Amino acid sequence: RAHSLPRCGRLLSTSSRCRTVMPAWVIDKYGSNEVLRFTKNASFPIINYPNEVIVKVFAAGLNPIDVAMRGGYGAATLSMKRDPLNIKQSGSEFPLVLGRDVSGVIMECGLDVKYFRERDEVWAAIPPWKQGSLAEFVVLSANEVSHKPKCLSHIEAAAIPYVATTAWSALVNTGGLRKDNCANKRILILGGSGGVGTFAVQMVKAWGAHVTVTCSQNAERFLRGLGADHVVDYTAGPVEEPLSALEKFDLILDNVGGDTERWALKLLKPWSGSKFVTLVTPFMQNTDRLGVADGMMQTAATVASKALKHLMKGVHYRWGFFAPSGSALDEIRDMVDAKQIRPVVEETFSFSQVPQAFEKVEKGHARGKTVVQIS
Ligand code: NDP
Repeated sequence: RAHSLPRCGRLLSTSSRCRTVMPAWVIDKYGSNEVLRFTKNASFPIINYPNEVIVKVFAAGLNPIDVAMRGGYGAATLSMKRDPLNIKQSGSEFPLVLGRDVSGVIMECGLDVKYFRERDEVWAAIPPWKQGSLAEFVVLSANEVSHKPKCLSHIEAAAIPYVATTAWSALVNTGGLRKDNCANKRILILGGSGGVGTFAVQMVKAWGAHVTVTCSQNAERFLRGLGADHVVDYTAGPVEEPLSALEKFDLILDNVGGDTERWALKLLKPWSGSKFVTLVTPFMQNTDRLGVADGMMQTAATVASKALKHLMKGVHYRWGFFAPSGSALDEIRDMVDAKQIRPVVEETFSFSQVPQAFEKVEKGHARGKTVVQIS
C-alpha cells in the first residue's frame, strides 16, 4: 500500500482534538429496539496503539448483525475478543456502539501510520468486537481502513464495506475466486437481493463469471439490472427444482441458510474442485450457548464432519466469515471507481432516526443497504 498524499476532505476543527465526549447511539443492555439510547456524552475514542486512526464518521451502514448484536448475538465470543484475559467484569462492553460500516475522514493518525494522513477520505468495515460507527468518531486499525472511492458520496460508500469484505472473504479467500479465474465459471448466489448478494453478484460478474441468483419474484428486474444472467424465484415453489434443471455450478455462495445444505451441494459439479460456501453458520450461536471453549469444539466438529461428508461426494463444503481488510477494500475501491460495482442504497436515515433504521433492517426483505447519515 503506497503512501498517499492528503486529499481535500472537509476540514476538522482543532477543538475536536480536545474533546472527551461525542454524540452516539449506544446500548446499555441487550434487547429489542427500546435499548437504543442517544447520548451526547459517549466516550471520545482514544488511540491506544500506534497503528490506529480516528475517523470522523459521515455515514454509517447497518447490517443484520447490528440487529442481532443489539439482541445479544455473539456476546460471549465478542467479549473474549475484546478482553482475552477475562480481566473485566461481565457487561464491560456497555455502553456499546453498533454500526459496522463507516465512510468518513481521518481525523488523527497513530505514530506508526504511514499510509494515511489527516483529512484523507476513507471507508472501512468495523469488526464486531470494536465500537461501531453510529457515533461521531470511531477508532480503527489502519489496516482495516482504505481510501474511499472518489466517485461515491459518503452515504453511498457506507453501503459497501461490511458486505463487500464479507463477500470478498467468502468468494476470494474461502472460495478461491480471482479476477483472472472466473471467466468460465458458473456461480450460484442463494439470496441475491440483500446486502451481500447485491455486492457479490456485481463482483463476480465484473470478473466474467456466469451468475445465477435466487430471490423473490419482485427482485428479479433489480438483480438483472445488477448483472445477474439467470434469476430463479424462490417464492414460486421448491427452488431446488428449477435449479436442478440447470447446468451444474462451480461455486455456490449461500446467504440464506436454513435447509439449503440439504439440496444445494447436489447442484455443484462433482470432482472438479467446486465449492459450497455458506455465510450462515452456527459459530456464534454455539459459543453463546455452550461457552467459548465448548462452542468452538462443537463448531470445529460440525464443520469438519460436514466437509468430510461432502468431500467424499467430490465437492468442497466451507464456512465463510466476515474478515476486516483494508487491502481488500483497496481492490474493491478500484472496481467501484472503474464503475464495475455500484452501491445499492435502499434507504437513508438521519442520525436522529437510528431506531427507525434498525426497524427497517429488522423487517428483512432488503433490496440493498440501509445507511444512516451521521454528519
Ligand atoms: P440482508 O438482510 O441484507 O439480505 C437477505 C436477503 O435474502 C433479502 O434480500 C431477502 O429478501 C432474501 N431472502 C430471504 N430468504 C430468501 C430465500 N429463501 N431465498 C433467496 N433469498 C432470500 O442480509 P445480508 O445480505 O447482509 O446477509 C446475508 C446473510 O449472510 C445473513 O444471514 C447474514 O447474517 C449472513 N452474514 C454472515 C456473515 C459472516 O461473517 N458469516 C457476515 C455477513 C452476513 P426477501 O425476503 O424479500 O426475499
